[in-house]
Amino acid sequence: MQAIKGLIEEESVERVLILPHNIPDGDTLGSCIGFYHLIKHLGKTPYMVLNDHVPSNLAFLFEDCGVKCLTSESVAEVSFDLAVAIDCGEKKLFEDRIGLFERAVKTASIDHHPTNTRFAEVNWIDSEAAATGELIFDLCEAFSCPLTPAIGEALYTAIVTDTGSFRYSNTRPKTFDIAKTLMKTDFDFNRVNVALFQNKSLEKLRLLNRVFDTLQLHFSNRVAVVTLSQEMMASLALSEYDTDGIVEFVRDISGVEVVVFIRYIGNGAHKVSMRAKYDFDLSVVASRFHGGGHKKAAGFKSDWPIEQIEKALLEALGEAFHDV
Ligand code: 5GP
Ligand code: MN
Repeated sequence: MQAIKGLIEEESVERVLILPHNIPDGDTLGSCIGFYHLIKHLGKTPYMVLNDHVPSNLAFLFEDCGVKCLTSESVAEVSFDLAVAIDCGEKKLFEDRIGLFERAVKTASIDHHPTNTRFAEVNWIDSEAAATGELIFDLCEAFSCPLTPAIGEALYTAIVTDTGSFRYSNTRPKTFDIAKTLMKTDFDFNRVNVALFQNKSLEKLRLLNRVFDTLQLHFSNRVAVVTLSQEMMASLALSEYDTDGIVEFVRDISGVEVVVFIRYIGNGAHKVSMRAKYDFDLSVVASRFHGGGHKKAAGFKSDWPIEQIEKALLEALGEAFHDV
């Protein structure tokens, strides 16, 4: 952490670009917002830049906290002294903003993915951390930054989402210690949890229903595959769709050990999300398809059609899972 701390402290560092990953989740957004407040506390100027839509269950993070998400276009004229990619395992995960990142005088990455490609000048990667939010918490402590309710809410969101509400095996005793300290900042705990977990639109539940209809089980029901094709998306006529959490629903099925979710993301491309229940290293599988992630949660993007992705993945998984 010392290297990144030193970098942030440098007097020449005034304008700081903060980059979450594309198709943002609770960890990347909560961590970026926490880091934003820290940069402000240090008397510097943060710019959080994201061109994607924020999932509806995370929109609350931007209400009344004074943090605005800017687009690449609106910061085209700004020269950044430091760019920090947060919760991004590789450059591809913010490829639409790569020009801004590379234009900055200095670059850094704060992340917890073991597959992180160390693409920045200073890389602070700790794969023991359950969420990147834990690292931002440590950084706030190191700078003696007062933990406001806004920071508490943002970092709690980062941690509670990346640990599946403290159920996944990335959760460690320190995770609970941090969560306890964050809860003491007195943010609106009920509001955050309702917004995150009890806030699914009817459209999303209908979508979930349709995705479940595509369920196929392989290798004695140990591997489940679900898909969301371009045609399904069009037929649902959803003005906005968010698929966050769908893959976890499928993993909840008794006996299922690995879930693969392939969904259309536009421009002929599909995104693949994989989840494991037990000790199976999906990041290795994802790496074969030029992606990455964690052991139990990994993914990649592909220009192949759904059937081709499915076939290749079943072949890769078949090396570990056999019909019995
Ligand atoms: P999700 O399925 O939630 O999008 O991603 C699961 C995990 O895999 C996350 O930690 C995410 O960062 C990682 N991941 C997903 N897609 C990619 C990818 O294309 N490249 C890399 N390096 N990691 C990915
Ligand atoms: Mn994360």
